[in-house]
Formats: sequence, C-alpha cells, structure tokens
Amino acid sequence: MSAPTPHRANVPGDFYVEDGCCTMCGVPFGEAPELFGQCDDSRGYMHCFVKRQPQTTSELSDMLSALQFSEFECIRYRGTDRLIQLKLVELNCGEACDHLPTDLQQRVNRDVWKRRGFLAGLWAELGFGRAPEKPWWKFWR
Ligand code: SF4
Repeated sequence: MSAPTPHRANVPGDFYVEDGCCTMCGVPFGEAPELFGQCDDSRGYMHCFVKRQPQTTSELSDMLSALQFSEFECIRYRGTDRLIQLKLVELNCGEACDHLPTDLQQRVNRDVWKRRGFLAGLWAELGFGRAPEKPWWKFWR
C-alpha cells in the first residue's frame, strides 16, 4: 500500500495532514492550536496543516488528541517510534500510521474486523491500509 500524500504546507516531520481531505472540522485548532495552521489551498478551499511538530510530552499529547478526534483520520503519523505507534493503536487510531511493525499491524487488523466489519477487515488484512469510508454501493455520492 502506498502512503497517503501529505499536504504541501505541512512542516517536515513525523506528523502530517493528508492532502485533499479537509472539511475544516476545526478539531486541531481546539485540541492543538500551537501545532496546526490553516491555509488557502490553491484548489479554492481552506486546508489545515501541521505547522509545528510536537516538541514536548504535553504537545505530543495534544497532537494525539487532535489525531484521535479529527474527521476522516486525515492527521497521520509516518514515524517509527514504537511508543507513539502503540499509543495510537491503543486509541484505536492505528490506521493513521503509515508504518507499523507486524505485531501492531495484526492488532490493528483485528480491531478493524471487530469495529468496522468484514469488508473493512478484509481490506486491512490484504494490506490495502485504511478502507474507504464510503460504501462501494454508494457510487453516486
Ligand atoms: S483534521 Fe482534517 S478535516 Fe479537520 S481541519 Fe484538519 S484536515 Fe481539516
């Protein structure tokens, strides 16, 4: 599976906002205002982005909170720090990790089976990553 494309406004680092998925839910500006900014996207809408990577335990906690409550899981983690990966898996946000060791990936796949059903679980087991939120039969939306 290829990792999602980060929005170009993100600063370099492990956390990023995926390009093109912003509905301006506003969650990051409430949970971690010091870490997120918003910009005018060239496609004609506002988009949030990571303006600063977390530097302290408190900021990391704010970042994880923003990631947990954001819409569409558009805040992602591409780092390989096992403690952060484990915390995200425990928050049921393991699908937001671009890279997971096998044991954690298996745990995420099992959780997906339980929480989101057969098709999403199968999708994860096959290594396609996060299953589409939109059911396949709602092709007109
Ligand atoms: S978390 Fe997602 S939907 Fe919410 S403001 Fe950021 S990019 Fe937009």
